[in-house]
Amino acid sequence: MVDLARFRDETRRWLVENAPASMYTPPRTPDDICWGGRKTPYPDDVRRWLDLMAGRGWTAPTWPREYSGGGLSKAEAKVLAEEMAKLRLRPPLTGFGLSMIGPLLLQEGSEELKREHLPPIVRGEIRWCQGYSEPGAGSDLASLQTRAVRDGDSFVVNGQKVWTSYADKADWMFLLVRTDAEAPKHSGITFLLMDMETPGVTVRPIRLISGSSPFCETFLTDVRVPARNVVGRVNGGWLMAKALLGHERTMIADAFKERDDAKRLVALARRYLGEEHGRVADPLLRDRIAQVEMDQACLDLTLARARDGQRAGHKPGPESSIFKYYGTELNQRRRELMVEILGPQALGWDGAGFDDDELKITRDWLRSRGNSIEGGTSEIQLNIIAKRVLGLPD
Ligand SMILES: Cc1cc2nc3c(=O)[nH]c(=O)nc-3n(C[C@H](O)[C@H](O)[C@H](O)COP(=O)(O)OP(=O)(O)OC[C@H]3O[C@@H](n4cnc5c(N)ncnc54)[C@H](O)[C@@H]3O)c2cc1C
Repeated sequence: MVDLARFRDETRRWLVENAPASMYTPPRTPDDICWGGRKTPYPDDVRRWLDLMAGRGWTAPTWPREYSGGGLSKAEAKVLAEEMAKLRLRPPLTGFGLSMIGPLLLQEGSEELKREHLPPIVRGEIRWCQGYSEPGAGSDLASLQTRAVRDGDSFVVNGQKVWTSYADKADWMFLLVRTDAEAPKHSGITFLLMDMETPGVTVRPIRLISGSSPFCETFLTDVRVPARNVVGRVNGGWLMAKALLGHERTMIADAFKERDDAKRLVALARRYLGEEHGRVADPLLRDRIAQVEMDQACLDLTLARARDGQRAGHKPGPESSIFKYYGTELNQRRRELMVEILGPQALGWDGAGFDDDELKITRDWLRSRGNSIEGGTSEIQLNIIAKRVLGLPD
């Protein structure tokens, strides 16, 4: 039986002694955190923090030690997360390796694939992207047309993926391909792992309304992928795809749990709307701010309860759609409210007359429009909740 109080003391001491001073600022956007990989240079402190934490396996605290994880129990991992939150320390690493393909490999991968891919994810050496969507297959993902034909020890892949987040910065992609065109559409899909350096892979960034280019089109022409890179069974990829989406949707909702932004609403309202008797002056906006914060508190508590369940061994199931739906819709409400509070100061895109914070609020608001699309749209989440959580008829 591990002494949790002692573990807490030791963990806190180690964090305080080792974390670089600049890591005590919580990230304001996902890009403030290290995503690892070979293609992006990171500042020295970010790299040092990553190496230190990865050295203890604390980038993936609960993954087994044999795959370079921290080997912590669920209770210890919770203590580590709590101590990092109290110190307001940045996570050392984020990304689709830790939150999507890693958990899937732990759940379903062969021993060979686990040993090959999990340690580089823990160390932040390899960055992953997700090749699910295609021009004709988004909500109806099982209609995907990218073909993979077996040729000796390899599959030869041809087709196009779209909306591939960070494909230009990723080293590997997990993707869905059609390996049996005659079978019913859900039964002819295979889940593959592909090195982005393989000849025949072409990536083109797509520019977004927020001014950035976080995602790409990915063209695949005669790309040879070793057959040992299949996760699960050939033609059994739909099961893998759904299991991974459970992890993805939980991860998206997690991104919207209580952060500094929550406290910022009131501070912004005081600054832009003024105060009356120590309260935000505008009663209607005051009411809406209170509602958003109460809804956030409910989401945070429910997510914490679900997290405890997962620590106790439950895999994320269709109920992850509830979190994805609620977290993303709530984030959009929050962003709308910020823009309303700023009034004309939210109309800037660049240049004088607007400070950095105001410009960021506007761009974050525009970026949030994609939240209810990525990882499956809100309409699709509602369909899943209706059918698979509530058991309502078609
Ligand atoms: C920021 C961002 C990042 C993304 N990153 C990735 C990525 O890394 N990898 C990847 O593979 N994909 C990624 N995507 C793609 C995303 O998964 C798809 O955009 C999404 O699944 C919707 O598919 P679609 O765009 O083809 O829209 P469609 O499926 O064409 O949907 C259009 C509209 O019709 C509605 N609709 C469709 N079917 C139904 C139905 N049965 N019932 C009710 N309404 C329905 C939808 O809700 C939507 O409003 C990303 C998207 C965004 C916005």
